[in-house]
Amino acid sequence: MSAHSSFRLGEVGAPAEDSDAGPTKDLTDAYIASRVRSYRRQAKRSFQEAQRLAVGNKSAAEERVKQALDAAARAFWWAEDSELEGQQHQLMHKIGRWKRKNLGCSLSFNGGTYAQRCSVAIAHKKMGLSMGFTATRICSVCRRDLASDDCPHFRDRSYWVRGGADADGPCRVCTQDSCKHRTDTLYRASVVGIISAQSNMVLHEISIVRKPAQPEARLTELPIDTQELAEHLGSNFLPGVSVSCDQCLGGCSGFIEFSGQD
Ligand SMILES: [Zn+2]
Ligand SMILES: [Zn+2]
Ligand SMILES: [Zn+2]
Ligand SMILES: [Zn+2]
Repeated sequence: MSAHSSFRLGEVGAPAEDSDAGPTKDLTDAYIASRVRSYRRQAKRSFQEAQRLAVGNKSAAEERVKQALDAAARAFWWAEDSELEGQQHQLMHKIGRWKRKNLGCSLSFNGGTYAQRCSVAIAHKKMGLSMGFTATRICSVCRRDLASDDCPHFRDRSYWVRGGADADGPCRVCTQDSCKHRTDTLYRASVVGIISAQSNMVLHEISIVRKPAQPEARLTELPIDTQELAEHLGSNFLPGVSVSCDQCLGGCSGFIEFSGQD
């Protein structure tokens, strides 16, 4: 893309404010990569802490490794279907294996039924939640209704916009109210549909989909059929006994594709 990612207003060669700045794909990819990196860093930091704590404080180590797996799963979800996916998948298994070996990983048992709450197992089910709703989305560039003819911007294009929040809305570059983007500088930015308290959001349904638009919208636990478990484990199985999580045992046993109506 352009060698310049920002221009001081009035600088020689600076583009016109709000002019087209090319397709938005590289910005989207960069954003996704930054989310992956940030969660990966969190995962590694928590994993290191867990390993350190495991020597003398098992319950603290368990808490920390849970956070590590949660962050690793989030990194994996953001990386899904990109070249970054494989690395996050590996990290998830590495932390999971260590947990299983040193602290154990088992199904949760509550109210007579088992559930899978292990992040590794949940991440191996290719499914997530999708929210069906209607709301007025405000264009981050012109602050008008994104669906109306008053907004001339396209979701797949980027624009040269001035940084910083003002009385009419958040920063056009990062959509935050407080940030480091300067009002005397033009940055390349994607169009974001801003939903606020004034957007009259109406939620219609929540459904399960193969790949959610919001990568982190996932189930927090998977129910497990006790009957099936009994068949799997044989006659010695009594509901209530501790059942280990296989996902964290050895190698990867593959992904389970979501097969519901989509
Ligand atoms: Zn607009
Ligand atoms: Zn900003
Ligand atoms: Zn597990
Ligand atoms: Zn795997």
